[in-house]
Amino acid sequence: MAWFKRQKKAIDQATPPEERRVRTEGLWVKCESCRAIVFRKDLEENLLVCPKCQFHFRMNSKQRLGMLLDGKWTELDAGMVSTDPLKFVDTKAYSQRIKDAQRKLKMNDAIITAEGQLNGKAVICCSMEFGFIGGSMGAVVGEKVTRAIEMSIETRQPLIIVSCSGGARMMEGTISLMQLAKVSAALARLDDEKLPYLSVLTDPTTGGVTASYAMLGDLNIAEPGALIGFAGPRVIEQTIRQKLPEGFQRSEFLLEHGFLDAVVHRKDLKGFLSNSLDLLMS
Ligand SMILES: [Zn+2]
Repeated sequence: MAWFKRQKKAIDQATPPEERRVRTEGLWVKCESCRAIVFRKDLEENLLVCPKCQFHFRMNSKQRLGMLLDGKWTELDAGMVSTDPLKFVDTKAYSQRIKDAQRKLKMNDAIITAEGQLNGKAVICCSMEFGFIGGSMGAVVGEKVTRAIEMSIETRQPLIIVSCSGGARMMEGTISLMQLAKVSAALARLDDEKLPYLSVLTDPTTGGVTASYAMLGDLNIAEPGALIGFAGPRVIEQTIRQKLPEGFQRSEFLLEHGFLDAVVHRKDLKGFLSNSLDLLMS
């Protein structure tokens, strides 16, 4: 009586239920600016810039170093970890926040400092990681940047810092604020040594990072459309009791008002930095 009894397994039993969805997740990305749906691979090949409207997606610290430096680079001070000096707790303990970020990103804090080459020129290059507690600057970021500056002086190599940060790290209170003074003082020594420092500001660069090293470059160069500022627009509006103009705190606006030296498209950034170094080192 085989003709009415199912002998083969039903099709939907062949694959377990958790695998029954077609996997397209992560293959396509929606552009935040023009809402076009872009194939992730095309986006990656285009340096994470939307091919339709040139919107610059955020790059992580490793992608950034990979884009700017030739081949291999050596990481400096990779083992430095925050000690949670205030034993700070908000919605979550700060120590736990650090652990979670470390596990997720496989790095110890919000910056990579590295020694490498840019178009054959030896440089010290620092790249901030927004994914690590908003790229905030606590004692570790401040100390690593300071050591990178000192390394720059010692080896007479120019310095590049790519900022991407919400500002000082609140969970380290005044200790994170002290980093502003420390890094600025180190940059003054770099200046005395007549070594160039190129600051690259990417979306977003705000708060204590803008108020210290991001704006202290011999050249301050930003990516198009990046949010750059100290306080947020709402706080400013409430303080001065005025409506802020269109495009306020974006790179193009800041260039027009003399806060930046250049706004450079990501595809031209490496060449621009290389030419600037040639100019400043000769
Ligand atoms: Zn777009």
